[in-house]
Formats: sequence, C-alpha cells, structure tokens
Amino acid sequence: MIDMLSAYFDILAGKKKPRFHALRSRDTGLNRLDLEGADAGVLWEVHDAALDGLAAGVREKSSRPDNANLLELKQAISRRLLSSCNFCERRCGAKRTSGKTGTCGVPVRSRYASEFFHFGEEAELVPSHTIFFTGCNFSCVYCQNHDIATSPAAGSVADPASLARSIDRGRERGSRNVNFVGGNPDPHLHTCLDIISLLRSDVPVVWNSNAYASREAMKLLGGAVDIYLSDFRYGDNGCAEEYSDVPEYWETVTRNLLLSYRQAELMLRHLVLPGHLDCCTAPIMAWVARNLPGVRFNLMFQYRPEHEAHLHPGIDRSLTAEETVRARSLARDYGIKAA
Ligand code: SF4
Repeated sequence: MIDMLSAYFDILAGKKKPRFHALRSRDTGLNRLDLEGADAGVLWEVHDAALDGLAAGVREKSSRPDNANLLELKQAISRRLLSSCNFCERRCGAKRTSGKTGTCGVPVRSRYASEFFHFGEEAELVPSHTIFFTGCNFSCVYCQNHDIATSPAAGSVADPASLARSIDRGRERGSRNVNFVGGNPDPHLHTCLDIISLLRSDVPVVWNSNAYASREAMKLLGGAVDIYLSDFRYGDNGCAEEYSDVPEYWETVTRNLLLSYRQAELMLRHLVLPGHLDCCTAPIMAWVARNLPGVRFNLMFQYRPEHEAHLHPGIDRSLTAEETVRARSLARDYGIKAA
C-alpha cells in the first residue's frame, strides 16, 4: 500500500514546496532569447534531459540569469504545439495560432466559465480553488457539465496574471490547491503553464482531467502537477466511442495513468454507468488492482441521464440499487478500497 497523497499533505503542512518550484529554479542552459527561434527537436531534447536530471536529483553545473528555466521552456514548447495542436490524443493538428480550432473547438486564447472555492470535490482537496475552463475534447452524451463543455467560446478570456493573483489570494484565504478543470483542461495546457509560472504562493496544482492528454502534453505536465485527479470511465473502447466519441480510449488512458502515477500523486474517479458493470467497471477495477495498487479510488454513483442520454437506450436511466451494491462488491473482490 502506498502512502496516499503524502507529498500533497507535506506541501499543505509547509514541509515541501509544490513541484513547480523546482522547475522554476532549474536552468536549461538555453538563453531565453533563443527559445522562440530554436529547433523544436532541440527544445524537446533539452527539456527531457533537464526533467530527467531533476527527477534523478542531478545537480546543475551552472546557472545564468539570462537562461530560461525549465518552466519557461515548457511554456515555449506549449506555444509551439499550438501551431499544430496535439495537446490531446485526438492529435487534430489544428493551427490554433492562426485562428483554427480542432475537435474541442477551443481557440488559442483560453476562456473560463467560473472560478471559486469548490467544496464538492474529494475530502482531501476541499476547499479547492477550481478554474472551470470552457470546451472539451470529449463529447459525452451524458455530460453533466455540458453547458460549459460544449461552449468553448463562452465565459471570460483567461488572463494568466489575473488568475494567478486570484489563486494566490485564494490560498491566503484557505484554499488547499488550485484545480484546473473544465470541460477539460488539456486544450488549455499553455494557459495553465502560464498561470503556474506566475504563482507566488505555495499552492499545490491539481490536474482534473479525462486522462486523454497526448504524450507530449504529459511530458509538459511532468514536474508542474502535484496531483492528477483523473477520470477512468470506460473499460471498453466500443463504449468510449459510442458515448464519448473517443478513439483508442483504453490504450491512451491506461498509458497516461501509469505516467501520472510515476510523475506525481494520483487520485482516480470512476463514475459507474448503468448497465456497464461488466464491460467497464469490472475491467477498470481489475486493471487498477494490478497496476496502481493502493491508489485513491473514488467510486461514484451520481450518474444521471443528462444532456443527450435520453437518446441512448441503456444509459437513459439512473443506476439501480442492485448495480450500486454490485459495484461496491466488485471493489471488495478486487481489493480496491473505494471511497
Ligand atoms: S486539444 Fe485535442 S481536440 Fe483540441 S485541438 Fe488540440 S488535439 Fe484537437
């Protein structure tokens, strides 16, 4: 059994700094002025070497004030990716810098619907200063946040400096973390890195997503995130395609969950879908028991047939009492301590 969320609680107790602090003090050896013109391959090489060095505790040879730190390098790479977006595994290649959008419809300038202290998240996280970005790369027919997930042009433009100030003030008023969510935060990766670069407080960073980021995005998140709060919805790619219009769900999400588990701390959420215990809940639990032993696992029963769910026979109803009992019993069978 791992010591669940111990690093996070150490940050809250002032015994550790949030992970992004180390990125800001890591010299990449690249002059800041050279970042925009440098070859993308070179930027990635330097990024990966610096991140590996940081993880291995290798000391830097030298540090120069005009050199970019590792967080600045991540910001520069994320800006590059916007000209052919592959922030998530849909890999649209949308030229967002030229006004184009991909499947998520999210423009180059992020927008958010609201930000507030959220008390409805897991007990360890509340109060959680939650930023609800608009737009999503999934199209879940039962989406319970469909008003913001399907409206990427809604809300206010996300100004990183003002959001960072608000997050800092929130930390002073007692928030336990900043929680980037939506919709889904992946299309807003560049904005979130910009916000993190401007934070002054020791606030832990929570990445609250559908775990469908691309490999590149996962690398950029590495070292910036303290807790991945990840949905694990489907145990079957057919269900993912049918209800969220998402290809290669299982391969992508399991890959990212393993990466998240290595990079930071991980909390999982599984929303039980009516009629999907055998195809989704059971395989998910079997995989988690095998690959992520002791992970914080939130088994969720609040499914409601919202949005377009009424058009999909089978999930056009709430869970039955028997399904709830069976899901709990599956968790016990797989040795998962579900909360
Ligand atoms: S975030 Fe994903 S869905 Fe949106 S444009 Fe980029 S690759 Fe496409």
